[in-house]
Amino acid sequence: MEVSFWNKDIETADRGRIQALQIQRLKEIVSYAIKTPFYQKRLSKAWIHSPDDIKSLDDLKKIPFSVKDDLRQNYPKGMLAVDMEEVVRVHSSSGTTGIPTVIYYTRGDVDRWTDLLARGIVATGATAKDVFQNMMSYGLFTGGLGMHYGAERVGMAVIPVGGGNTQRQLQIMKDFKTTVLHITPSYLLHIHQRMTEFNIKPRDLFLKKAWLGAEPYSEPTRLKLQELYGIDVYNSYGLSEMNGPGVGFECVYKNDLHIWEDGYIIEIIDPVTGEVLPDGQKGEVVFTNLIRHALPLIRYRTRDLAFIHPSPCPCGRTHRRMSRILGRTDDMLIINGVNVFPSQIEEVLMSIPEVGTNYMIHLSSHEGLDRLVVKVELYQKLFTGDLSQLDSLKGKIKDKLRASITINAHIELHEPGFLPAFEGKGKRVVDERQKL
Ligand code: ADP
Ligand code: ZN
Repeated sequence: MEVSFWNKDIETADRGRIQALQIQRLKEIVSYAIKTPFYQKRLSKAWIHSPDDIKSLDDLKKIPFSVKDDLRQNYPKGMLAVDMEEVVRVHSSSGTTGIPTVIYYTRGDVDRWTDLLARGIVATGATAKDVFQNMMSYGLFTGGLGMHYGAERVGMAVIPVGGGNTQRQLQIMKDFKTTVLHITPSYLLHIHQRMTEFNIKPRDLFLKKAWLGAEPYSEPTRLKLQELYGIDVYNSYGLSEMNGPGVGFECVYKNDLHIWEDGYIIEIIDPVTGEVLPDGQKGEVVFTNLIRHALPLIRYRTRDLAFIHPSPCPCGRTHRRMSRILGRTDDMLIINGVNVFPSQIEEVLMSIPEVGTNYMIHLSSHEGLDRLVVKVELYQKLFTGDLSQLDSLKGKIKDKLRASITINAHIELHEPGFLPAFEGKGKRVVDERQKL
């Protein structure tokens, strides 16, 4: 396997050097954070009154966690640690669940972030020779502009299309011979079905790889997409609080996400007790941003669930790998008392070849009990139109789901194109249960 680096020296640095950089940058971040009333208070609780009070990485554990609500309560500028004059970029997350959160960046912040993106891009084997179609939405969302900057730095030919307008996207892929995509798994699944409609075959295109992120997806989904398109699919992880995409990227070995540890300190905690867990154990991911001065975030609870791989990667990078996101503490469903993550349902569905590229999870109340309906689009190619085949497929999905989540689901099968399509992050759970 050919392994390329953007900055080999730092990507393969030994633990001692990575930790030395972490301490140095943590002190720097504290020197900015302490300028905000919010962190001045937080840090004084941990007896940190100046950067010099940070003596070792263990001192980090004394600092209380930060959460999304802190950002909301300090909207819009309460956590800004530099003069507005120094800010060159503002991003914000959707705000669908209340007051939005705002992130600020200085020129240096954007520059450091861009560099981490370039590392990830090169780790997937992409080069300046590639033509890159960026299908993540631009604007306040970090996915579009963030990756755009990284790809430009690597020297790729960037086509900044953003999300949506599938027919035009396909035309551009053809006309410009696009080789690399950045897209959500939901949208890439959807596009395949539209290609059938427009009678475009993957071999009419020039695609080689896709970076998929912004929402959780399972290994069966990766495998399905790789097969449908004949491309390599790499996982890419990030969140606006940690700048945006580029926090973690898979290398050519596709064995989970290298977290750039000189840019972010990663901790996995028990979401109930807050205790830091050892590598290998699943818990909530907590990050400290070591590279952003305009809006410092220390020990930020992401609500994402994952674990750190204890073993090194054959590519030679020393930055530890985080598993794919196994769920979010806030997307767990409790169905008749059983805890279920939507990702468990997705994993089962996408491992069944007759299941197409779209599904929905529907919850309602029925005679005092929760009722789970899983609506699935069929993969047309493998369907003969035979009714008994439909019945046996329903039974197969139901059995596999029961084995995984111990719940009896009602299965609905639909023609491709029947369910709502997603051109960004998918919203696949509809919960209409009566709240008591
Ligand atoms: P929000 O969705 O909270 O408004 P962002 O747009 O920054 O904020 O999205 C960040 C979130 O998206 C992450 O915390 C994570 O839940 C999800 N996410 C991003 N990349 C991935 C990925 N590769 N796999 C799974 N989840 C991801
Ligand atoms: Zn690797």
